[in-house]
Amino acid sequence: MDIRLFNTLTRKKEIFKPIEDKKVKIYTCGPTVYWYQHIGNLRSYFFPDILKRVLMENGYKIVHVINVTDVGHLTSDSDTGEDKIEKTAREQKKTAKEIASFYFKVFKEDFKKMNFIEPNFWPKASEHIKEQIELIKKLEEKGFTYKTSDGIYFDSSKFKNYGKLANLNVKGIKAGKRIPLGEKRNITDFALWKFSEKPGLRQQEWNSPWGIGFPGWHIECSAMSMKYLGESFDIHTGGEDHIQIHHTNEIAQSEAATGKKFVNYWLHGAFLTFKGEKISKSKGGFYTLSELEEKGYSALDLRYLFLTSHYRKPLEFSFHALDFAKNSLRKLKEKIKSLDKTKKINRKNIDLAYKQFLSYLNDDLNTPKSLSFLWDVLREDKLNDSEKYKLATIFDKILGLDLGKEEKIKIPKKVAELIKKREELRKNKKFLDADKIRQKIYKLGFIIEDTKEGVIIKKR
Ligand code: AMP
Ligand code: ZN
Repeated sequence: MDIRLFNTLTRKKEIFKPIEDKKVKIYTCGPTVYWYQHIGNLRSYFFPDILKRVLMENGYKIVHVINVTDVGHLTSDSDTGEDKIEKTAREQKKTAKEIASFYFKVFKEDFKKMNFIEPNFWPKASEHIKEQIELIKKLEEKGFTYKTSDGIYFDSSKFKNYGKLANLNVKGIKAGKRIPLGEKRNITDFALWKFSEKPGLRQQEWNSPWGIGFPGWHIECSAMSMKYLGESFDIHTGGEDHIQIHHTNEIAQSEAATGKKFVNYWLHGAFLTFKGEKISKSKGGFYTLSELEEKGYSALDLRYLFLTSHYRKPLEFSFHALDFAKNSLRKLKEKIKSLDKTKKINRKNIDLAYKQFLSYLNDDLNTPKSLSFLWDVLREDKLNDSEKYKLATIFDKILGLDLGKEEKIKIPKKVAELIKKREELRKNKKFLDADKIRQKIYKLGFIIEDTKEGVIIKKR
């Protein structure tokens, strides 16, 4: 079956063809680890996860890289402002290493909770300075760089197709108040290496052929992707905010250095918005996964919410929508649990439905269609319970919702005490009092069911 992916480079859905047979190399722009990743960021790691699972179901092996930006990302995308990690380290009176490793650790925990399959490599920018310097040297040899008083810059006018990815009208972009030209030759030029203003003041700086300093943000992704995936690879993913600057610059510097096509398919995810605006760290007021967990939602409730929308469409976050996702996931799990798994399976039924399911996902990762198809399967009279169960578990290899897994629920001490008290009251036939306690337990978020085998406790 063909896989079609929307390629930002051509603005078309294209049939996917890997460079190597049955192997796909993917690079995802990773987190800048100066703060918690918000749920908008998580959406940008969700769609590569679906992409990987879909490719694997189609028989491909995956090599996946997500970088960790722990140096060089400045507070402004136009090569000015402070390094985000250095700034947080100063504010929190910590070392840059401490900041980066703390937020990376939290991110990895969230990543796991979301059931995202780990990449094969998590390279850190600060551990690939040599590779970045080598790449800048190559660009220098080929005449694509120039020096200003604050660093080494890439001359975008020398790269023929600059701005192709974003369909940029390069000539139309003029320096303005927000983006001053400064010593740059062209407004779209960008820093490859920045000099330390006062060497010794920054926590993270290195020697280079051009002076003490640190790499620009874009060069890390070119250097690390090419190190782990080769000079040309299959798929590059990221949020759509990276199209205009970051990915445009990645293409320019990589292709200028190698003379080869850098990436065949560029996939971009739309934003998660809140009240119509992009959820963003710099604006504040964002939600993290732990904030949602504190409010009683799970990572998989959020995953369900992400599945309900196509990755190229903006998704408006609201608690109403998250409640809907949470309830749907609970109902889905209950339905699957209640299925009689002892019926005889007709293989033909499984194959047919599976093909249909995969065809939705092979069509540019249409998760909303695949999810509603799962519901259709569960409602279908022509399928028996065992077939439904089998299909749900197969579909879950891509959906990643732990559908067959029994949820282990943590019972708070207070609830446990109330359950014990209720048992005693029931033993003494004080049913009215026992019922009052059941209501108290309900208010604390738990449902009690009395069965022949004993009491069953569920989350409300
Ligand atoms: P950052 O840590 O800011 O470098 O961003 C990590 C990833 O999250 C990038 O791919 C961004 O494009 C993406 N991103 C940032 N904000 C959002 C959002 N509100 N919705 C979806 N993706 C986002
Ligand atoms: Zn990147």
